[in-house]
Order: sequence, then C-alpha cells, then structure tokens
Amino acid sequence: MKYLSILGSTGSIGTQTLDVVRQHPESFGVVALVAHHNIDILEAQINEFNPLIAGIVDEQAYKVLAARYTGPTKLICGEEALIAAATIQEATMVITAIVGAVGIRPTVEAIKHKKTIGLANKETLVAGGPLITSLAKEYGISILPIDSEHSAIFQCLEGQDKSNVHSLILTASGGPLRNWPSEKIATATAADCLQHPTWNMGNKITIDSASLFNKGLEVIEAHWLFGVDYDHIDVVVHPQSIIHSMIRLQDGAILAQMGNPDMREPIQYALTYPRRLPLEMNHLDFKELLTLEFIPPRFDDFPALRLAYQVGKEGHFMPAVFNAANETAVYAFLEDAIKFGDIYKIVTAVLDQFNNTGDFTLDNLLANDQWARATAKELI
Ligand code: NDP
Repeated sequence: MKYLSILGSTGSIGTQTLDVVRQHPESFGVVALVAHHNIDILEAQINEFNPLIAGIVDEQAYKVLAARYTGPTKLICGEEALIAAATIQEATMVITAIVGAVGIRPTVEAIKHKKTIGLANKETLVAGGPLITSLAKEYGISILPIDSEHSAIFQCLEGQDKSNVHSLILTASGGPLRNWPSEKIATATAADCLQHPTWNMGNKITIDSASLFNKGLEVIEAHWLFGVDYDHIDVVVHPQSIIHSMIRLQDGAILAQMGNPDMREPIQYALTYPRRLPLEMNHLDFKELLTLEFIPPRFDDFPALRLAYQVGKEGHFMPAVFNAANETAVYAFLEDAIKFGDIYKIVTAVLDQFNNTGDFTLDNLLANDQWARATAKELI
C-alpha cells in the first residue's frame, strides 16, 4: 500500500492521478490533497478519498470551503498547505502536480522528509536541478518521472548498463502550430495555441507545447533526471504522440516505449514502480492502420528549443531564469497582454540582463526566480 500526497490534485495530472487511485484502491491511499482555488473539485475529492489534510492556497477560496465543510479532513490555508502536504508523516510518496517553480520549496521539503517524488512539476527540476538532485542523493530518495517522455526513457533504460546508452531521443508532438507558416507564428492567439492536437493538459503547458518551450524544459529535465549531457539529448517531432520517447544504444539500436497518448499510463507506472498493474484505458490496437511520422524540429521558427539547449549548457541559474521569465510571459500572453512572439523576446531579454553568479543555494535560487519574474513584468 502506498500513501499519496498530491500537490495540485484538481488539475490535469492531479485528477488523472486520482483516476489511477480509483482503479486500484487496494494499492493506494490518499493522505493529502492541495489545490490553488478550485474548491468545488477539491471538495468532491475530499469526500471521495478522505485525506487527512486538504490545502487551499488561495485565501478567499479557503474561507468559502472552510465555511461549508464539516467533515473530518483538516483544511489548511495558504502556501504553507503545500509544505504541510509535502511533509505529512503518513505519506510515502508525494506527487508534484502543481504548475511552475512554486513547486521548488515543497519538493525540497518532501525530499528532506524522505518521500519518494512522483515528478510532474518539471519547472522545479529545470530551475533547481543541481539542488534537487544533490538533495535526492543525500537523502537516498527516488525521483520517478511522470512526464510521458521521461517515463518512456526511464522504462527504456531499465536493465541497461549506462555505458550501453549513446543518447536519449525525446519525441514532440510539435503542438498546434506545427504546420503554421513561419510568418504567422508570432501572431498566434491563445485560442490557437490552446488547441493541442494530441494531449489534453493545463493551459500553461499547452502554451509551452505550442512554442516548444515545453520541449526545451523537457530537455533540461532529462539532463537532470538521467545525468546525460546535452549533446546526447535529441528531439524529434512525432505528430501522432504514440512513441513517447526513445533511447539510442551504442550499436545504433533504438528502444522506444509506445502507447496511446493517455497520461494515466506514465502516472500509474510512477505509482506502481517497479511493479505493473492493469490499467483501464483505450490501449493501442494494431488491427487499425497506424502511421508513425518523424520530422526534424523547426528550430528557426520555434527558437525556444535552441535557447533551452543554450541555457542548459550554461547551467547554474540560467535554466531557473529561463523558466521564471517564461512562466511570467506565458500568463501575460494568456491574459492577452502580449503577443505569442513576445514570449521568446521577453525570455531572451531577461536572460541577457542576468548575472549568473552566486552559490547554488535555495535562497539564491528563489531570489533569482523572483528577479526574473520582476524583470519580465517590467518588460511586459
Ligand atoms: P493544471 O493547470 O491542469 O493543474 C495545476 C494544478 O496545480 C491545479 O490543481 C491547481 O489548482 C494547482 N496549482 C496551481 N498553482 C498553484 C499554486 N500556486 N499553489 C498550489 N497549487 C497550485 O496543470 P497540469 O496538470 O497540466 O500540469 C501540472 C504539472 O505537470 C506542470 O508542471 C506540467 O508541466 C506537468 N505536466 C503536465 C502534463 C499534462 O498532461 N497535463 C504532462 C506532463 C507534465 P487549481 O485547480 O485550484 O487552480
């Protein structure tokens, strides 16, 4: 039996995690849930899964739920709820399904409390790679990937000696703008970008998928999860999203993990690892025609991907600044304050102003994250 604490339980990953739990009540219990403000969904989850604690980060939303909820679950208000859920004694595994670098502090605390991490919240590993991986080593805990690409690579790497592995190959759907003419891309609207062809995800990651910032974040995430240098991490566009990612071995053989695009598959594998359990979903059916395409990324039209390699190689706080500036710009784009093409311009302008020095401490990481957000806001 694994006892889960789910940070971001009301979102796309959070609700799908609970769907996996629902399919295997004999294997998983839920001890903590945290949402930002979505109290209607949270309340239904509390009533169904009976966690010990439930957190609502938004104060107004907390007050509304606290006024009407009379059950036994303890309600906690504010960002401290994330820490309480990340460190609760009864949890054996913390699922980080919140969006953005706000996940850094709770992830650090969860590791220090020796919780296994089911990592969906890629922004935390991108921004805090050196700190998170060294803490995980120090406290002897596993970080199990939930991102489908990284779960695929994790599965392909199983049983492989590291010396056998030549490189990692991340697949990318290419997003909704994959076939757009170069001159139109900068003017894409939020509505254009939110129509993802193969995955149904939260708004922030869907915009990142359209700009290929998401694939850039995933390249950096792969570097930290698997300890592979950037020259041995490749990206190929695969519009069908059936092959979730691959590894190339020294002799040229390629191993791929495939399945229909459904996040419950990688979520369940992180939850059950190293075991496998049945999963009710629409599985691949080879009685139907299946065409798989592989296309090189359009680096010039989606320059965020090239930029991610650059900041990843420069390292230190550069990925944290890259991520924080992007988060700020994406929300401005969603509020119609800037154009799609401005997201990349703002991120590069913030990076240009950044002085990449100082020890890699948690305090410096959070300070640089805040600096990047403030600088991006000024530019917006
Ligand atoms: P969603 O926007 O669907 O959900 C985000 C969740 O986090 C919600 O529960 C939201 O609460 C909560 N939340 C947001 N901000 C805060 C905050 N400041 N404090 C506490 N809780 C907060 O996002 P996704 O599920 O799509 O993505 C979650 C993470 O997983 C991201 O890092 C993303 O990159 C990654 N990921 C997602 C995939 C997907 O298929 N969706 C695939 C691979 C990775 P509320 O509902 O109340 O706003």
